[in-house]
Amino acid sequence: MNALSEHSVVSEPRWRAGGFLQSLGPAFWSELPAQPLPEVRWVARNDALAAELGLADWLQGERALQVLSGNAPARVAPPLASVYSGHQFGVWAGQLGDGRALLLGEIDSPSGVQEIQLKGSGLTPYSRMGDGRAVLRSSIREFLCSEAMHHLGIPTTRALAVVGSPQPVMRETVETAAVVTRVAPSFLRFGHFEHFAHTAADAAALRRLVDAVIERYFPACREAPVPLLAWLEEVARRTARLMAQWQAVGFCHGVMNTDNLSILGLTIDYGPFGFIDGFDPMHICNHSDHQGRYAYARQPGVAWWNLHALAQALLPALGDGDPRQHAQALGAAVEPFKAEFDASLQRLLRAKLGLAAEHDGDPALIDDLLRLMAAEHTDYTIAMRRLAAFSSAEGATNDDLRDLFVDRAAFDAWGLRYAQRLRDEHSVDAERRARMNAANPKFVLRNHLAEQAIRRAQEGDFAETQRLLRVLQRPFDEQPEHEADAGYPPQWAQRIAVSCSS
Ligand code: AMP
Ligand code: MG
Repeated sequence: MNALSEHSVVSEPRWRAGGFLQSLGPAFWSELPAQPLPEVRWVARNDALAAELGLADWLQGERALQVLSGNAPARVAPPLASVYSGHQFGVWAGQLGDGRALLLGEIDSPSGVQEIQLKGSGLTPYSRMGDGRAVLRSSIREFLCSEAMHHLGIPTTRALAVVGSPQPVMRETVETAAVVTRVAPSFLRFGHFEHFAHTAADAAALRRLVDAVIERYFPACREAPVPLLAWLEEVARRTARLMAQWQAVGFCHGVMNTDNLSILGLTIDYGPFGFIDGFDPMHICNHSDHQGRYAYARQPGVAWWNLHALAQALLPALGDGDPRQHAQALGAAVEPFKAEFDASLQRLLRAKLGLAAEHDGDPALIDDLLRLMAAEHTDYTIAMRRLAAFSSAEGATNDDLRDLFVDRAAFDAWGLRYAQRLRDEHSVDAERRARMNAANPKFVLRNHLAEQAIRRAQEGDFAETQRLLRVLQRPFDEQPEHEADAGYPPQWAQRIAVSCSS
């Protein structure tokens, strides 16, 4: 060690004392250290996020590797695993909790206070039958997808890094362990509220949680006559907008249990997710979802169901009074979900079609395109992107787009209506094209892209993961050097099965 490296000049993350979760009290968590992993090494690092958090230099160092693998304590205060409950596949599952996640602490960032959490850091009191670990495969998927979603403009937890270790982990086959570092203002889920309503049946703790969440994350609701109802309505609206964004981009979450829905309206807990390739409203991305409960087209309905589970859990927090009236008020608070979802989805889809003004016939025009695509399983991302090049000129054949459809006559009929609709609002093709390219991504994290990065990483080569991250950080740009990532999934990709086992 030379004189320069003997004293580290890299500053440690500036952890805030205490922290939101900590301040709620021990009914909400258990303190415990992470379990160490052998021979850890970096699999992926997110330099852009590190810079945002003021951790750019720190993330380059050996100390960061040890902290983010759980091998060294992050700070004096011990990490926390939080307890929650939830409905899984529509059935009450009782107590769950951070079975393999640990909150290291909070730091300030330009985008507000951020929690830093390890996922895959070993057993906790909430691990139940699990081993507390995450495998390399699922960790790379979570890392890449959370960043892909963020750069698509979709609210999500972020991912700072993935650390790998040769430690074997048993899934369907023997895999190896990894730890993802996740970043979010909060990892609170609907299930945290359900826990104190049903499992712990502790109305005082529930009330404390609600008050603290409103105070910290929804301060505008404090002014409302009943802050809890105003806050629940805001959660419903955020969830509605998130669902509209998922549907518009063709994202399928796969496990929308109430413990996997964020109270802040973030996409959280990436498992067997998938982006739609060939458009199919009943697409099921989770291999273990035999009933298709979480099929693509069912996501908004499931979110609505989950919001009712949340509303029900909040009943004890409304205190004394007529329970029937309280239940009614809670139901009314989530009601705006529907209008917010419909309006958000229409707005997003109109943007995808490049429609500037709002016309009565727009929903039918949009729906007919989606039906056409559903009938032929047309590739959703490719078709939407090609739509930007549509010429509204009289007589234009739009072959690039037309070639995606077997039923040319059906496409032509729709194309005539679309062209007329564009001419009606004097849409200028070149100008519209630029707008549409900013609404229709060229690059999404298709399963086969993740799979290619995973296979290389399993052989010890992490360059593909890092390359894919860079591509997904610019999803709306052309990036001709990465054209292959914007193509159809290859034949072999049809055999990729993603299940809950992560
Ligand atoms: P998920 O559906 O993956 O979000 O997880 C549902 C519940 O199972 C949560 O309480 C997780 O913490 C827990 N869990 C999932 N995988 C593991 C694991 N390998 N070890 C311990 N707990 C786990
Ligand atoms: Mg979960």
